[in-house]
Amino acid sequence: MKVLIAGAGPTGLTAGVELARRGSTVEIIDKKDQGSTLSRAVGINPRSLDLLSPSGVTGDLLAQGVKFESVRFYREAQHWATLPLTAAPQRRGYNFMLGLPQDQTEEILRDTFVALGGTVRYGTTLTGVCQDEDRVIVETKNAGEIQCDYLVGADGVGSATRDAIGIAYDGQDLPGTWSIADVEAGWTHNNETSLCLMRDGKMALIAPLGGNRFRAVSNTDNALAALPLKINVTKTHREGQFQISLRLAREFSKGRVFLAGDAAHTHSPAGGRGMNLGIADSADLAARLCGDGDLAHYSRDRLAEDKQMIAGSEQLRKALTSPSVAKRALILAGLKLVSVTPPLQRMFASRFLYG
Ligand SMILES: Cc1cc2nc3c(=O)[nH]c(=O)nc-3n(C[C@H](O)[C@H](O)[C@H](O)COP(=O)(O)OP(=O)(O)OC[C@H]3O[C@@H](n4cnc5c(N)ncnc54)[C@H](O)[C@@H]3O)c2cc1C
Repeated sequence: MKVLIAGAGPTGLTAGVELARRGSTVEIIDKKDQGSTLSRAVGINPRSLDLLSPSGVTGDLLAQGVKFESVRFYREAQHWATLPLTAAPQRRGYNFMLGLPQDQTEEILRDTFVALGGTVRYGTTLTGVCQDEDRVIVETKNAGEIQCDYLVGADGVGSATRDAIGIAYDGQDLPGTWSIADVEAGWTHNNETSLCLMRDGKMALIAPLGGNRFRAVSNTDNALAALPLKINVTKTHREGQFQISLRLAREFSKGRVFLAGDAAHTHSPAGGRGMNLGIADSADLAARLCGDGDLAHYSRDRLAEDKQMIAGSEQLRKALTSPSVAKRALILAGLKLVSVTPPLQRMFASRFLYG
């Protein structure tokens, strides 16, 4: 069986690893000239660690990443409550989020894929798709036509695969600007995420990336300026702004072509679900393509599961960014209660880690 994957992001690379380790012939094409150097997603959840374990990827991720073992909440700059993620029952053997910049995660996935015999062809853009009952023919800008048994569209939010097979990407752009900064700082909380809830629905967080490197994120246009904590920045590696959208493909497959990751859904970073959902889509799809599971129901099953995860992420985003004074007071009171009640701590940690 030959599978072509469009897109060498975390979703496409996971599909590649999972198919190659089961013996499929797999090629990944990507329009970029080389692997990404952007640190976008930093949180790898227990489910992803579990799914990537058989290929050995998890061992390498654990060796390079940093464990987030609790979440510290602040009311403006005042420490308010600490909720331990280690309180969660170990459903998948990992009761923490693993922090690692996305470019490092992709490098580990790519190295494993290549070691399993896979090929990544950069500088190759998918421009069209034709299919019949037996095969798919992919048109590319710079490598002519490529024939395969199945095509996985893991080509991100602007998926050309999705457009080529005519699947709608329903949803909306959300108002407001978000910002991130990757910095070196003299902040001492190296294994916890610190989240500041501020007036008027503003929030800012700082998460460790290993050593003295940290990631700041805020729903304002300047994450470092918005962060009320004194973190003593010594070097800024990267600052940027982004907009968020809420979109879901109407179907995740058509004939022999399947969508996964951001090509199938996009939402806010609340809860750190984006990359993890792509990894889950790909692991599920690869198993089904190799005869382990019902391929005909991939679209139905993933749509239902991803819809539920996205609803949870949206609930969290709305709660954390609500401008309502009453809602904020309620959230702060709830956090305080959870922080002193072990059964509630277990519930919070389970929900945060496992969705
Ligand atoms: C600032 C920021 C912070 C984030 N933080 C988190 C977080 O903490 N946790 C989390 O889980 N998620 C986070 N996300 C989301 C996460 O980065 C994405 O969900 C994830 O990258 C999706 O992976 P993907 O492989 O599906 O798509 P992408 O990473 O977008 O990869 C798609 C690939 O397809 C290639 N491609 C595109 N078009 C074509 C074509 N026509 N032909 C060939 N190749 C093509 C692109 O070059 C790219 O390499 C964050 C995102 C941003 C922007």
